[in-house]
Amino acid sequence: MEKLARALNLLGVNYQEDTLDKYKKYMDLVLSWNKRVNLTSITDKNEFVTKHFIDSIFVCGFSQMHEINKVIDVGTGAGFPGIPLAIVYPDKEFLLIDSTNKRIKIIYEISREIGLKNVTFLHGRAEDIAHNKKYREQFDLCVSRAVAKLAVLSEYCLPFVKVGGWFAAYKSQGIEKELAESQNAYKLLGGHLEKNNSISIDGFGLDHRILMIKKIKQTPAKYPRKAGTPTKDPLK
Ligand code: SAM
Repeated sequence: MEKLARALNLLGVNYQEDTLDKYKKYMDLVLSWNKRVNLTSITDKNEFVTKHFIDSIFVCGFSQMHEINKVIDVGTGAGFPGIPLAIVYPDKEFLLIDSTNKRIKIIYEISREIGLKNVTFLHGRAEDIAHNKKYREQFDLCVSRAVAKLAVLSEYCLPFVKVGGWFAAYKSQGIEKELAESQNAYKLLGGHLEKNNSISIDGFGLDHRILMIKKIKQTPAKYPRKAGTPTKDPLK
């Protein structure tokens, strides 16, 4: 937890007294559920703090974070990066979606237990949810980690983002090829990536990078295509 406090300070996050306590409770509850339901392969607490918490909060280093109010996490799994962000930003609104209902139900229970009031959960596929007016182009920021290659992920995520908002794709370093292959896709969906508009995560043994793609125009109504098509036939 001391390492997490160091990361929060480094990122300039003003956190409340009970913040670290909430993280600890979240980790203990996930690890306890994990004995019955597969939520994470990371069971060592030290590794959990680094690979789940510190990795998730690195987007806090993004200079325009203070302008962001509504956030969606697509393919949240056991709540990453959505829950660690919701813990440090109690005044922002979070929607966490996943196509596996079992995981959604468990993280809903866990978040109630730790008293998170700024998070809602929705079971479904991004391709379907993004066509619902209630969610389409409604978010200032869409975050997503370990869900799909960038071309596919852009089709899942960019339709949720308002024009002027951001899509934060959590990736590893060395994704030049993936990036080059997805350029047409994110542009077609209304995204724009300025050179070097990414946050590097280092200093904690993490070799990760968050690409910050800006939404500069509306996503054409036909995207995302029907569930399953983006993975079968990624936009080129
Ligand atoms: N984001 C979490 C993390 O970094 O630990 C979970 C990553 S897990 C490898 C991928 C998650 O994405 C799974 O929980 C899966 O159910 C979800 N997922 C995959 N495709 C999806 C889709 N089209 N719509 C919504 N969720 C999806």
